[in-house]
Amino acid sequence: MTTDFDLLLDGPAHDLAEAVSARRVSAREVAEASLARVGRSRELHGAFLHVAPAAALAAADEVDRRVASGEALPLAGVPLAVKDNINVAGLPSTAGSRILEGFVAADDATCVARLKAAGCVVVGKTSCDEFGMGSSNESSAFGPVKNPWDLTRVPGGSSGGSAAAVAAFAVPLAIGTDTGGSVRQPASFCSLVGVKPTYGRVSRYGLLAYASSLDQAGPLARSVRDAALALSAMAGPDERDSTSIPAAPRGLLDRLEAGAAGVRIGLLAEAEAPEGGLDPDVGSVLDTAARILESAGATIVRVSVPRVPFAVAAYYILATAEASSNLARYDGVRYGARREGDGLSGLYRATRSAGFGPEVKRRILLGTFALSSGYREAWYERAQRVRALLALDFAEAFRSCDAILCPTAPEPAFRIGEKGADPLAMYLADVFTVPASLAGLPALSVPAGLSRERLPIGMQLAGPEGSEPLLFALGREIERAAGAWGRPPGAIR
Ligand code: GLN
Repeated sequence: MTTDFDLLLDGPAHDLAEAVSARRVSAREVAEASLARVGRSRELHGAFLHVAPAAALAAADEVDRRVASGEALPLAGVPLAVKDNINVAGLPSTAGSRILEGFVAADDATCVARLKAAGCVVVGKTSCDEFGMGSSNESSAFGPVKNPWDLTRVPGGSSGGSAAAVAAFAVPLAIGTDTGGSVRQPASFCSLVGVKPTYGRVSRYGLLAYASSLDQAGPLARSVRDAALALSAMAGPDERDSTSIPAAPRGLLDRLEAGAAGVRIGLLAEAEAPEGGLDPDVGSVLDTAARILESAGATIVRVSVPRVPFAVAAYYILATAEASSNLARYDGVRYGARREGDGLSGLYRATRSAGFGPEVKRRILLGTFALSSGYREAWYERAQRVRALLALDFAEAFRSCDAILCPTAPEPAFRIGEKGADPLAMYLADVFTVPASLAGLPALSVPAGLSRERLPIGMQLAGPEGSEPLLFALGREIERAAGAWGRPPGAIR
């Protein structure tokens, strides 16, 4: 039997929050209905690593009490799925790794605390590539996640579980982390809106660090409005993250319906023929998106960001270098799993050998090499120079346009196992997302079409620092005109 709560879970988060705020339904009833779907999505898609029914129901009751006492909560009763590399007090955080088995977070990440304060109810923790390292969710130690649009395909990564959970209608909203594309690319593969905020917009406190100079948490939702609502709840200064932007963000929701009239959209010349190729269906969806913006009154110009072709190489040096340092803390002494060995170095060796998966080990080795004496200048420092030049390229490009439009990923979702044996092919899947990450710029992925095989294709809009409100307005135009494609065949009913 379909209940009101089911109808609400099929709709947008802002409608659900309104219904809970108006006390037409209770947050508890919504949480119960969502938990049932979460259980099914766990079985069907492998999207969840931990489900938290008791905590969710207690939190929902608390939301109902706050609503009854007259508090205005923008996300009242909205069930939220949280990527497993973001801490939620009292729940495990494994980041998809065996090395953190048994670790339970002591407190909430700042972004989680803020979403809870806005009324969200955390229902569970979602699967991800181990420590966020991957583009397919296949490097999770706990099995792959299936894309609700085609269960033989990946949901993207590394926030694959969060994306699958929202696409499957288990929850209306999820959060992920994006270091080089991990919110945007799964959004593209699962027909969702995904936001990578300006670096520093969202506090990193409580994120399990991968590459600290790049990591940002961001929302995954089924509409631009829901993504914007979530970001405005998450964003803002935080004294527990020294890289958070001190000024409060202004007007994140103000431009939502402002349209694209008079906006200059840059089509990225370097996206025309990326290394590794561009799927023809992705190319035609790009043309459609450009036409949509043009008929909404935008001007289309061609822009060049000449260092884009070097971004993947620079990213995989810098991200692995930072990871090699960040992951040194998992030594069996302080967090999670511990394996005894001969003496202290034996303990380290045994714990880390058994605890880390092959992709994480590859990256620790790469990153350690790039930082090691004698090679640091040739690899790490050179990559830093590429990063600085790339940021200058973007600044130059934004003299002739207000935002840059390009595909989020060069192809739609690939098959589970297809790229597993070829790390380089996997890394090249990030060709369009890592440039904005390296430059610290905000970028949004918005559903823009389906391939001939009915697989989602997302388009990316990137802008200067702080341009999230503009990106939301442009994303809304594409969302409105590109239309809806209904529920994926693998959605929960
Ligand atoms: N796919 C990229 C990587 O493996 C990006 C991952 C991410 O953003 N966490 O590093």
